[in-house]
Amino acid sequence: MAGGVALFGGSFNPIHHGHLIIARAVAERLDLVRLVLIPSANPPHKVGQDLADAADRLAMVRLAIADEPFFEVSDTEIRRRGTSYTILTLEEYRSRLAPGEDLYWIIGGDTISELHTWYRARELVDLCRIVTAVRPGFETPDLSVLQPTLSAAQVERLRRGILETPRVDISATDVRRRVAEGLSIRFLVPEAVREYIERKELYR
Ligand code: ATP
Repeated sequence: MAGGVALFGGSFNPIHHGHLIIARAVAERLDLVRLVLIPSANPPHKVGQDLADAADRLAMVRLAIADEPFFEVSDTEIRRRGTSYTILTLEEYRSRLAPGEDLYWIIGGDTISELHTWYRARELVDLCRIVTAVRPGFETPDLSVLQPTLSAAQVERLRRGILETPRVDISATDVRRRVAEGLSIRFLVPEAVREYIERKELYR
């Protein structure tokens, strides 16, 4: 199973240490050769939230991983514009990989029970291996809701893809709320990201 590439998509509004800690843990567990963070342009489930500009979210991911050569960032979803359909990103990467090279998509434990609502969910689940990082508050996700959109075999594969990663109770919602309330976000996000949020007056 060694040598694969994992894509980690998200709104990263903003990126925080929860994202980075689970990314590292998954990379080690799967013995990956590459891990690519992919900020979404226009997340279908996040309309109406306090969503920073894509350029700012991308810049913050770049700052967060600046000293970590193993992590990459891709602006493919931002360049594509429109709704960020994961399947399109997966198809793009799949077409560039060598045959037999493993392709993973990383999600958190809160997201797994929503997978059946994703565009072309059945194909998506077959195109890659979905890896789910456990998230505090979502330890035992209800996978029964995924059927009948997904087959029993697909749901079973998703269940086997749940990894015991460190539980980090940080969310971007909480980071934004703290900024809006004038509370410190030090230690929740990388220092360079904290400085960027302050300088650009995001989430006030
Ligand atoms: P928000 O609070 O704005 O909904 P978020 O903190 O969930 O944001 P996203 O950018 O939406 O962050 O997350 C991208 C992916 O990372 C999602 O699949 C989400 O489940 C996962 N994720 C985010 N934070 C954590 C965490 N602390 N532990 C495990 N998974 C996480």
